[in-house]
Amino acid sequence: MRLVLLGAPGSGKGTQATRLKADLGVPHISTGDMLRAAVAAGTPLGLKAKAVMDAGQLVSDDILLGMLEERLAQDDARGGFILDGYPRNLAQVQHLDAFLEEREEALDAVIVLAVPRDESIARLHKRAAEQGRADDTNDAISARLAIYENETAPILDVYGSRGIVDEIDGVGSLDEITDRIARALDARGFARSAAA
Ligand code: ADP
Repeated sequence: MRLVLLGAPGSGKGTQATRLKADLGVPHISTGDMLRAAVAAGTPLGLKAKAVMDAGQLVSDDILLGMLEERLAQDDARGGFILDGYPRNLAQVQHLDAFLEEREEALDAVIVLAVPRDESIARLHKRAAEQGRADDTNDAISARLAIYENETAPILDVYGSRGIVDEIDGVGSLDEITDRIARALDARGFARSAAA
């Protein structure tokens, strides 16, 4: 199962990906988590990315593309993946397409977690209070939401025209939302494992 999870900052992509990966038997690949790990480790890539991330802007493609390709080329991602935080703009869509085509693979589904703007903002402020993530400041939250609306949302037209998009209501309990996603994937022929 090659799945992309899309949704505004605060829509719950990371939380739901973590819940889904065991059921689907594929790794959860979060570009945000990978970048934060690079920042924490103080790698050259992390040092370059930090200020851009803290401001809520997109990290440049030259940093991101190599990092993602390297991750997707690892053995555990051969049979599939849940991508969270990538692609985020049309150039990244094209890059992912080219990468998968070369391997004679394709995306199976794109799940969009739909959450009203006010709800996203409220969740990010709550996370800011609880976890103190460096990009959960007022300015960075506004920047991230604007980038989602202007650069990421247009991706939906591209994937929508391929018939692989399911929009899921992202408001409700965590279990309800996981169930909604699982039902959409079931309908596409990707059943959860018996353990689910
Ligand atoms: P959120 O979806 O809440 O904004 P993420 O953890 O997905 O959080 O991403 C955090 C930050 O990491 C982004 O604001 C951006 O700076 C950087 N980032 C993550 N993925 C990408 C990407 N695909 N392209 C460019 N920058 C990215």
